[in-house]
Amino acid sequence: MNKDKRVLITGAAGFLGSHLCDKFIAEGFSVIGMDNFITGDKKNISHLSSHPNFSFIEHDVTEFIKIDGNLDYILHFASPASPIDYLKIPIQTLKVGSLGTHNLLGLAKAKDARILIASTSEVYGDPLVHPQPETYFGNVNTIGPRGVYDEAKRFQESMTMAYHRFHGLEVRIVRIFNTYGSRMRLNDGRVIPAFMGQVLRGEDLTVFGDGTQTRSFCYVDDQIDGIYKLLFSDYVFPVNIGNPSETTILEFSKEIIKLANSNQKIVFKPLPVDDPLQRQPDISLAKKLLNWEPKVSQEEGMRITFNYFKSLSKEELYKKDHKDFSSYNKR
Ligand code: NAD
Ligand code: UDP
Repeated sequence: MNKDKRVLITGAAGFLGSHLCDKFIAEGFSVIGMDNFITGDKKNISHLSSHPNFSFIEHDVTEFIKIDGNLDYILHFASPASPIDYLKIPIQTLKVGSLGTHNLLGLAKAKDARILIASTSEVYGDPLVHPQPETYFGNVNTIGPRGVYDEAKRFQESMTMAYHRFHGLEVRIVRIFNTYGSRMRLNDGRVIPAFMGQVLRGEDLTVFGDGTQTRSFCYVDDQIDGIYKLLFSDYVFPVNIGNPSETTILEFSKEIIKLANSNQKIVFKPLPVDDPLQRQPDISLAKKLLNWEPKVSQEEGMRITFNYFKSLSKEELYKKDHKDFSSYNKR
């Protein structure tokens, strides 16, 4: 039934984009992946390269996008997502959320396709309402270092709703809360690959601040399932998808040490500017609307993810981050 349906997935070589490609291929869709590899990796989609229903276009979505033939769905997941990445490429981050989103909305309109855009819990900033429901407007520092990501995502949501209201475009907006799993870049600075890399290399775990800040971690399969259900729902407003099970970062670092059965120490480093002090999704809407809730426990998700990082070669585990953003920052 899905065989004649064509889906464009941007950010396809990244963590979530590559898992989405797998999902849509498994459901029988014809998938076009698009990425410029700024934070992604070719190897995340290499297993799909000879699949008859998969094709790939290397392209920066902030430039005009040309796709031949029809398109039924677009999932816009291209954007740096780690605070370390988007601090290093702030202008690219602003551009992909604004110009990139504009190009993709224009493409969706031209092709009469439904578009789902990847938004984030960062639209709530350092939240003063806890847990965060979709009705909360957020508490964002526009000019702080994280503002480049948060504001790009907020603009992205506004632009998407404007295309819906003005052009009648079929839109879906997912507000993704911290998600983890295989294919996260080991050195992208996000806390799960950071801690897992540290325990595997026998290094101390770096907890930022006093570690009392909280996050709620969602396993990738649950996230992909929620996004898939949202795309095929008829709801146009933002929906939170994440796992409400909340933990402090200090507690979490201890769990990773336990999981790895290691005796690493914890060292405290300064808390990054505007690092949200608490975060937990209110998923009542997703439960009601999509009949969705996470199924994978933190224990199981972490075990699978730890085994993934453990399976990396010694060379990969010890190599410095291969990402060199200098050419992008000259643009
Ligand atoms: P990621 O860095 O692994 O993947 C992002 C991908 O987008 C990379 O492959 C990168 O090369 C590509 N990309 C970036 N700019 C591009 C451009 N201009 N043109 C083409 N490709 C470009 O990050 P991720 O965790 O997979 O995040 C994917 C999306 O989900 C992002 O939009 C992010 O904001 C959102 N999100 C993720 C999380 C999470 O916990 N993983 C949480 C909230 C939101
Ligand atoms: N963090 C940490 N040590 C690290 C990396 C991150 O203590 O080596 C903390 C970070 O300050 C934040 C939380 O872990 O409070 C989650 O950080 P991440 O970069 O994964 O994503 P965020 O939720 O902040 O976007």
